[in-house]
Amino acid sequence: MESGSILLPIWWLKFIYDFLEVSPNRKILSLVYISGIIIWALNLLDFFKPGIFAISMGQKLVFNYYPTAGLGYYLFYLYFASIIFYTSWLLYAAFKKNSSDRAAQIGYVLFAAQAGLVGGGMTFLPTLDVLIHPVGIALFPFYPIIIAYAILKHRLFDVRVVATEALLFLLWLFLLVRTIFAETTRDRFIEGGLLSATVILGIFLIRSVLQEVRQREEIQVLAEDLRKANLELKKLDQLKSEFVSLASHQLRTPLTVIKGYISMIQEGSFGAISDQLKDALRKIMVSNQTLINLVGDFLNLSRIESGRMKYLFEPMNAEDMMQSVFEEFKEVVKEKKLELTFEKPESPLPQAMLDKDKFRQVIMNLVDNAIKYTPKGWIKMKIEEDRDRPGGPFVLMSISDSGIGMTEDVMNSIFKRFSRGEEGWKANTGGLGLGLYLAKRIVTDHGGEIWATSEGANKGSAFWVRLPARAAQIEKDKQLKDFVAKI
Ligand code: ADP
Repeated sequence: MESGSILLPIWWLKFIYDFLEVSPNRKILSLVYISGIIIWALNLLDFFKPGIFAISMGQKLVFNYYPTAGLGYYLFYLYFASIIFYTSWLLYAAFKKNSSDRAAQIGYVLFAAQAGLVGGGMTFLPTLDVLIHPVGIALFPFYPIIIAYAILKHRLFDVRVVATEALLFLLWLFLLVRTIFAETTRDRFIEGGLLSATVILGIFLIRSVLQEVRQREEIQVLAEDLRKANLELKKLDQLKSEFVSLASHQLRTPLTVIKGYISMIQEGSFGAISDQLKDALRKIMVSNQTLINLVGDFLNLSRIESGRMKYLFEPMNAEDMMQSVFEEFKEVVKEKKLELTFEKPESPLPQAMLDKDKFRQVIMNLVDNAIKYTPKGWIKMKIEEDRDRPGGPFVLMSISDSGIGMTEDVMNSIFKRFSRGEEGWKANTGGLGLGLYLAKRIVTDHGGEIWATSEGANKGSAFWVRLPARAAQIEKDKQLKDFVAKI
């Protein structure tokens, strides 16, 4: 007999254990292995001393050579039938225990197995001198068909596993049939050997594919967990932004009231004040303004992060805005004994589309930084047209200083949220590292670019903002056309 077919029931038992995800019954498994080895040994013996399996070969039905079962075959049939009954019982029990989808999967395997069994079992009948044609073999193709249907309908196994199994099964079947109907003992020995080898190799192959599928399933579960955690985090982040926004609003109002009253006191609305008091008030005013800026940064951050930052773009002269920032800081720099200059071209520059308040905040922030990080020397504000770039016109603004400068490392990180340079931190301990992050967001939302340059530590820095001016041109042309059309 072909030794490969001895392995088939073992493979089937292991497959059912795997499929049902139950841990194998060790006693039954050992019994099956030992019986398999005994039958296999008998089979080997049969090769040298024929008669154990087939007591004779002869013409049966349409077949020229068909064996008549001897003791070996009876043993094999018992072994085969026991495993089939046991696995069918396992499947049936699981079928009853499980609900809906899983039960349907098990049901299909049980059903498909019967198709294979009736088909396979019928080939044994003539060996027992029951002369019925083994037409059941025709049922074999139903096995893959039923399984294929189950895969599509109930996502039974991974398609790759099934494809591998189906292919191997067909190969084994082909070799089994060839072995049974081999004309000479030599041929039968060769075919049988081939079948044994493919069964062993096939089991390894299926195992490795199954393992890969399992790993992939695990990864899928992990990815799903990650997705959920990410959603949760986003929700938390949103909540945090809302909280910051609320808190900032609450803080801003009293700070603005304080600012108003200080101005009124400074202006003498509540009577004359001494020089000493004037000095103290000025300090209160500066600290209060720092707080107002900080709260403003937080407010903008939460707006940006929750997607509530709204812009009101209009065509504007950026140099006018820079001029007003320059005026505002002219007095402040005097205290630090810094020189502040503003350079702009004689002829007017092209307009750009700006949200006045937000863009002004960007320039204010850059000048404010230049003052903070320049212990002595000068600060230069400049605006010009960037002519050399294709796709223009562009307006190029810069704020450069003779301050503490930046290393390459610092320069690469300062536009990130809460990022501060070490030297910057020493020079100004009160900052949060938000200003440039917000500036970058706002400039980018304007369709522009912002970047920094520095020769290195203590060699001063320059911050550059480039804005496209064409959109403003188009807007202006449109307004002009509308106006002409109206009159
Ligand atoms: P903050 O000023 O609150 O720290 P910013 O985002 O405005 O936050 O700046 C981030 C960092 O960039 C600063 O901590 C500092 O290290 C560096 N920086 C910004 N402007 C200058 C400048 N003009 N000269 C040198 N370093 C600067």
